[in-house]
Amino acid sequence: MKWVLASNNAGKVSEFRALFADLGIAITAQGELGVEDADETGLSFIENALIKARHAAKMTGLPAIADDSGLCVDALNGAPGIYSARYAGKHGDAAANNTQLLANLAGVADVERSARFVCALAFVSHAEDPLPVIAEGQWVGRILDTPAGDGGFGYDPLFFDATQGMSAAAMPAALKNRLSHRAQALQQLRAALLSRGIAAIHV
Ligand code: IMP
Repeated sequence: MKWVLASNNAGKVSEFRALFADLGIAITAQGELGVEDADETGLSFIENALIKARHAAKMTGLPAIADDSGLCVDALNGAPGIYSARYAGKHGDAAANNTQLLANLAGVADVERSARFVCALAFVSHAEDPLPVIAEGQWVGRILDTPAGDGGFGYDPLFFDATQGMSAAAMPAALKNRLSHRAQALQQLRAALLSRGIAAIHV
């Protein structure tokens, strides 16, 4: 079985390949098939994941998977949310995004700085699939006053996990990969694909 992934991020492509290896599913990045990015016009992670999956399925005729993720801060009504990658204006400028986040939370007490990383995944068996498989993982924490830790990416230095007593950027990669919103969503999606009989384990 060949499925298309609506992402060209090498890290994500290998993560999906590893997770689906025992299901006999070959994952191809949409860029390898000449598919351009879809317009993300949704208002939620799930809507955007579904838009991207439908677009990839439409352009290739293959079953498709897409993801959408970001950080939601309760005191900011869920911002930066689906705009996480470009909160400060320029796409992917993590330092500017973190500065913007700290400025918007200035004066907000620790107990009110709760936040969550969110990852939504959508699978469609064809572009007009009326029964997509949806998964959503959330990783709850709070936003620090100052960055901590040297690892990770994006908002990791500001995201503190009280159960571990450290920021996401201070965690060994293996620990983050076990706790993260993405790991949770991937496990949920895998379980849903298996329970619905869309995929099966090949021994
Ligand atoms: P994407 O949808 O995976 O590209 O994520 C969008 C944006 O959300 C990224 O550019 C980051 O700013 C933020 N983000 C998503 N996941 C993480 C994470 O695990 N750590 C830090 N930032 C993240």
